[in-house]
Amino acid sequence: MNQPIAAAGTDANTCLRWLTREHPDLNEAREAALRVVKDAARAAEIISRIRLLFQKGVPQQELLDVNEVIREIIVLMSSEATRYSISLRTEAAADLPQVIGDRVQLQQVMMNLIINGIDAMKDDADGTRELRIKSQRTKNEEILVSVNDTGIGLPSQADQMFKAFFTTKPHGTGMGLSISRSIVELHGGRLWAADNSPRGASFNFTLPTKVEAHECERGDRYG
Ligand code: ADP
Repeated sequence: MNQPIAAAGTDANTCLRWLTREHPDLNEAREAALRVVKDAARAAEIISRIRLLFQKGVPQQELLDVNEVIREIIVLMSSEATRYSISLRTEAAADLPQVIGDRVQLQQVMMNLIINGIDAMKDDADGTRELRIKSQRTKNEEILVSVNDTGIGLPSQADQMFKAFFTTKPHGTGMGLSISRSIVELHGGRLWAADNSPRGASFNFTLPTKVEAHECERGDRYG
């Protein structure tokens, strides 16, 4: 939010300077005023995107089939993937135990991870563009969902990624991963990132199928 607000302040000052000169330059003043309008629109867009991400009342506690949640999101996202020539592949483990949770919140997590994967690949001209979504059962009786892309890879400040407002995108909100991690943790799971091999990023989250929390070993992980 700071960036468009600061830009609006600077542009409004510029506009005033052009108007209060001895010989006011209306064209320059108009240009600066137009930039203020754009800055305000950008601030409004950030607010509405954050609202969308937070849009949900009381979390539901229902029995869910994670593969079904994944399928529903893929239906929603497939045209976006096609638009950028990205192939969406799924490897769904059969007979996954159900989890208890909020369908819309878990869809939100999947959607954030998929959109990030698409963002990481869409401007990347060469190479395969593939988003692979995998569900499996771990030996701890948890469900592990992985979203792997072949995009630009994690940023150098990968340890900052899960912090609210951290973004490397010109129009990013920096809220997706922070909200996604909160949702997963509210469900008793964990969300982390790693490098994908041979290229791209891998985002993984677990969901317990029992109420107990499990300790996790932290290997080559960020955040
Ligand atoms: P936003 O997408 O608005 O930037 P996020 O919280 O979802 O906010 O992501 C924060 C940052 O984490 C991104 O700006 C990007 O630098 C990094 N990131 C997230 N997902 C990926 C990915 N799949 N590949 C590379 N970098 C990623």
